[in-house]
Parts: sequence; structure tokens; C-alpha cells
Amino acid sequence: MSEIDPALCPICGKPNRCERLSTEPRKGPCWCATQKFPRELLELIPEKARGRACVCRKCLEDWHGRRRQVELIPLSLRNLASSRPE
Ligand SMILES: [Zn+2]
Repeated sequence: MSEIDPALCPICGKPNRCERLSTEPRKGPCWCATQKFPRELLELIPEKARGRACVCRKCLEDWHGRRRQVELIPLSLRNLASSRPE
């Protein structure tokens, strides 16, 4: 993988459906323009793909879903989980 395809999500490799790259004549603002991308998520993008390819909506939603789960676990349980052998 040497070429960065701006139509593919750099995290999962699936089409990112970026509005700016679509062939539709009526171009609205991309869905990602209204979303906040956490820095932690952007750090998952390989360095050479940063600023070139959009992250897809699924990866953004998955990231938020995982984060919510972590925040719902009480701290004591989280410590237990992390001390459990893999
Ligand atoms: Zn993705």
C-alpha cells in the first residue's frame, strides 16, 4: 500500500463516503463537516494518510461507542478488568 486513496477510510479501508469526493452534481457539505473527530481517533490514521483521506462514519461511531462503554464502567471494575490476564 503506497498510494493513499482519498475515497477510502484510512482506518478500516472501506469507502468513506466523503461528500466532497462524490460524483453527485449537487454537493452539500460532507457529513464529516458537522462531526467532531477526537484527536485520539485521528491518531489512529497512518501518518501518510492524514489530511488526505477521510475517516468513515462507521469508524467515528465505533470509536464513540467504545468510549461510552469505557466511561460507563465504574473505576473499580475497570481496574479489575485491566488486571485480568489476556
Ligand atoms: Zn472506517
